[in-house]
Amino acid sequence: MSRPVRVRYAPSPTGEPHIGNIRSALFNWLFARANGGKFLVRIEDTDQARLVPGAQEKILEGLRWLSLDWNEGPEVGGPHCPYVQSERKALGIYAKHVELLIDSGAAYRCYCTSQRLDQMRADQQARKQPPGYDRRCRDLTAEQRRQRATENPNPAVRFKMPLSGEIAVEDAIRGTVRFDAALLDDFVLLKSDGFPTYHLANVVDDHLMEISHVMRAEEWLSSAPRHKELYKAFGFEMPVMAHLPIILGPDRSKLSKRHGATSILEYRDQGYLPDAMLNFMALLGWSLDDSTELFSRADLIKHFSLDRVTASPAVFNIEKLNWFNGVYIRMMQATELADVLLPIIEEKLPPEAPRPIDRDYLLRIIPLERERLKTLNDAPELLSFFFVEQPKYNPITIIQKGMVRDDTREALTRALRVAEHTEPWDAPTLEAAYRNLAEELELKPGQLFGAMRVALTGRTEAPPLFDTMVVLGKERCVARLKSADYFMKIIPTAC
Ligand code: GLU
Repeated sequence: MSRPVRVRYAPSPTGEPHIGNIRSALFNWLFARANGGKFLVRIEDTDQARLVPGAQEKILEGLRWLSLDWNEGPEVGGPHCPYVQSERKALGIYAKHVELLIDSGAAYRCYCTSQRLDQMRADQQARKQPPGYDRRCRDLTAEQRRQRATENPNPAVRFKMPLSGEIAVEDAIRGTVRFDAALLDDFVLLKSDGFPTYHLANVVDDHLMEISHVMRAEEWLSSAPRHKELYKAFGFEMPVMAHLPIILGPDRSKLSKRHGATSILEYRDQGYLPDAMLNFMALLGWSLDDSTELFSRADLIKHFSLDRVTASPAVFNIEKLNWFNGVYIRMMQATELADVLLPIIEEKLPPEAPRPIDRDYLLRIIPLERERLKTLNDAPELLSFFFVEQPKYNPITIIQKGMVRDDTREALTRALRVAEHTEPWDAPTLEAAYRNLAEELELKPGQLFGAMRVALTGRTEAPPLFDTMVVLGKERCVARLKSADYFMKIIPTAC
């Protein structure tokens, strides 16, 4: 009978929450939600030497940002806390399990000192032998053990791996993966400082937490034969194993800093939306078919299944992420978008822009600019001309093709007059008035509008001119057209 679905995300707090790790979290979360199961978070912090202060908080921050909520936690602390292995070590959980293996003869104390192990490795290297423990302490007599214990009172504990044969691991994504036992040494379960290794703590916890499926990155596949033997030695049922495909950069090398941001929090800080990120990451190794790309959270939960996860590498394409982000930005309600943009604009607009930012004004700007937003962080620059008193630009960019300084000045002076006298201040009235003006001046509409666009927005590309003028308001437009005339005086006549 199949077990109730219980899966976990088991990060080690050794750095920023990397896209690859969070993709594992997402797949586990989706699998739990798709199957009415439970999703757990377990911090694997037993390798004290690799701990990075603050990393655990960042991992949880990343999960919370993506709303990947977990279902339970330790008795002390409760469900809002993750399980933490160092806390579980303090309860004696791992030491107790190691004793079981020593008693059954599946594990043994290893008295070799670090100097001896270093020497052994150096000799192996010199003889071009594969590295690995030479099993010196595997079959000691009681007498030899007593004697060695006097030389090294803090022995490690090692697991007795089979000396030969094949270890076949069933993987739900890759099928049967075979390993040559002769190449796998007797690995450490408990270090001499009393800390369990990853292998021990991981297997013991997966068992005690009744994990039904282990979904983790492909880089852990090499641990699977060791874990299989450990489950066997304990007499525990092994969870279904599924090793998720590696994530590559567009140049097909392993995704790394060279390809840009790798931490999920960097993407948050760069203005990506959590739902866009989620949709994008779900497709790093999973697909429903060859064409569907947009999935809401509910769609993902509905469709996610392990048999649609591929074994072949997934490629991280930032262009794709930008596209997703743009789509999700456009799908947001204007009010929702205004609320997320407000603090970003407030912080990043040039200091001279008046604060607090007027939310109603922002709500009128959003429909004009949202098409151009790829990330939320594009907003301060794109929107700044709406807020600052006078946008900065190079006056020469006002002069349109086929025009010179003086006819441009003349056109803008006339454009100012029109602005002063146009009533009502709405897009159709403005458009009619300025088309008339272009005709009177014998200019192409594009020439007049292009010059006005720069004068009013500081940009050569901006949202539709007359809608923009309506939102900017008559007063600002009049003031900017006046300044344009002033700026143009400083351009040499010859232009
Ligand atoms: N602690 C391992 C990691 O950092 C977890 C591997 C696993 O999920 O078994 O990714």
